[in-house]
Amino acid sequence: MGTASREQYDVVIIGSGPAGMGAAFELSERRPELRIIILDRLQYSSGGMRNDCKMNFTFPIGFPLDYWDRDQAGEYLEKVSEFLKPSILPKSRLAIYQQRAQRLDTELLEIEQTHLGTDGGLRLIKELQKELERRDVTLALKEEMLGLDGGSHVIETSKRELSYGQLLIAPGRQGFRFLQQTLDALGVSYIDNIVDIGIRIETRIEHYPIVTDYYDPKFHFPDKVRTFCTNSGNAHVVKELYHSSSGQPYHSVNGHAYSAGHGKENGLVNFAMLKTVGLTEPLASGQQFAENLGMQAMLMGGGKPLMQRVGDFRVGSRSKLETFNNDLYDFAPSLRDCCPGDISLAMPARVLRGIWKAMKRLDTIVPGILHPSTIMYYPEIKLYANKPAYLDGYFNVAEDVFLAGDGAGTSRGITAAWASGIRAAEGMIRKNR
Ligand SMILES: Cc1cc2nc3c(=O)[nH]c(=O)nc-3n(C[C@H](O)[C@H](O)[C@H](O)COP(=O)(O)OP(=O)(O)OC[C@H]3O[C@@H](n4cnc5c(N)ncnc54)[C@H](O)[C@@H]3O)c2cc1C
Repeated sequence: MGTASREQYDVVIIGSGPAGMGAAFELSERRPELRIIILDRLQYSSGGMRNDCKMNFTFPIGFPLDYWDRDQAGEYLEKVSEFLKPSILPKSRLAIYQQRAQRLDTELLEIEQTHLGTDGGLRLIKELQKELERRDVTLALKEEMLGLDGGSHVIETSKRELSYGQLLIAPGRQGFRFLQQTLDALGVSYIDNIVDIGIRIETRIEHYPIVTDYYDPKFHFPDKVRTFCTNSGNAHVVKELYHSSSGQPYHSVNGHAYSAGHGKENGLVNFAMLKTVGLTEPLASGQQFAENLGMQAMLMGGGKPLMQRVGDFRVGSRSKLETFNNDLYDFAPSLRDCCPGDISLAMPARVLRGIWKAMKRLDTIVPGILHPSTIMYYPEIKLYANKPAYLDGYFNVAEDVFLAGDGAGTSRGITAAWASGIRAAEGMIRKNR
């Protein structure tokens, strides 16, 4: 890398998601004299906070147990809460559902949660941007980090070179591969042997009425299956585009909802049923495994994710375009660009078995979910288990280089990502005394 006109910052943060934000606010609060810049490759700020923005304030939701215990997460959650000032959603009839769940070896977790919705998340991001500006933190959008020279403390971006005193890399799940390349460049070892694979379920609220008592009920079933990210009201299933290490495109579905009270409710609810898969020798890359499953689904869906009505699934028939919205199948899928088909031809038997058993349990706890009209979308893939060899408890991986957030395996959600950013910032401050 050349030396001409290189700008110098005390701290360079890669990624303006919650992990990057958590770090930037902690650093600017405690060390206002630092010259800080946040880069984001996209033209808008704040990563995954733009989607749905349901924030969980109870351990262990979002906190990988490899890096957090209850007390530590609790301490950081308090800080996140102090800053974001959430208004926690009320819950009712919890004991009834919990008793039913217990009888089926299932746990219903009681989580403090707030839901801003995709539109409310955008408003929050605007406020955060204003606050960054007030604190003199530079936000450089549409600028991507491409590589680094750790020895000279220089990064190369899509626009220039920057010198850093300390570097925090928080590129989120979609930056999974970029992070691996960066770790390779720094000579830091990592494993990624865990992945969540599953489906997204969509049904009418009347078939999953628990959401009127508990916005995002977190059920943990046997065999490492859980419900995740429930959305209702004005709720939509979406598809995200990823690329495999060899550049092949594949989709993962996801879900989000807009904030309540605008009279635009579609009466639907969606949530993921995920199974955690831990891989061992000889196949130890969760990413490669997930990519292959994603591409298999692309092959079967003609380049789209698959969807199947429960009514077809239970009798072993594929769903078809002609009959997808007939008779009992009485609501249209919120994700239109999806292929009616047979998810059991694309899913590993072990994953499908675990999820179907959990769905039967769930239907006993909250009767209705197995209504024939319920749609099962596949695949929903969560890749966030890069486990780098950290040098300390502050996510330091190399001289003056720190990681945080979902891409680095230190979190699995907005609040935990924010907390991991604060924790990395504390590490930076300790080294920079
Ligand atoms: C559709 C959807 C809905 C979700 N809903 C919820 C929810 O309701 N509640 C919840 O807790 N979690 C939710 N999540 C997960 C949540 O968004 C993540 O857990 C969280 O955003 C992780 O924060 P992060 O800072 O690690 O990464 P991100 O939020 O992904 O931010 C990383 C940022 O880094 C940028 N970046 C990546 N690589 C580079 C590079 N090389 N150079 C510069 N910039 C780069 C990206 O553009 C991105 O803006 C959802 C995710 C999705 C996709």
